[in-house]
Amino acid sequence: MPSGNVIRGSRIGSGPERPAERYKPAPRRAVTYWCRNDHVTEIRVALDAEEPAVWDCPRCGLPAGRDADNPPGRARPEPYKTHLAYVKERRSEAEGEAILAEALAALRRRRGRA
Ligand SMILES: [Zn+2]
Repeated sequence: MPSGNVIRGSRIGSGPERPAERYKPAPRRAVTYWCRNDHVTEIRVALDAEEPAVWDCPRCGLPAGRDADNPPGRARPEPYKTHLAYVKERRSEAEGEAILAEALAALRRRRGRA
């Protein structure tokens, strides 16, 4: 029964059947990715394989792309905004004055100086 030989040596825990020199690493090329936090990640892909368009940055987890000047992810013009900057987006200068006056009036009332 010839099929009996096919699985010989392939049980779980058995070593490689063939000598190690038979497993030559495939030729590879370096591919570089940039994330929005300026982390640079270099991976190696097989020469005949197409590199992924996006690679997750191993340092911050953001998606990283092939274009250093235009990494993928949220296209926010400023990477960081202060709390005040966000407030100023939501409220106009006049609204701010009104809210401040209202808060001051309430404070003075509480202190019995209204
Ligand atoms: Zn990153």
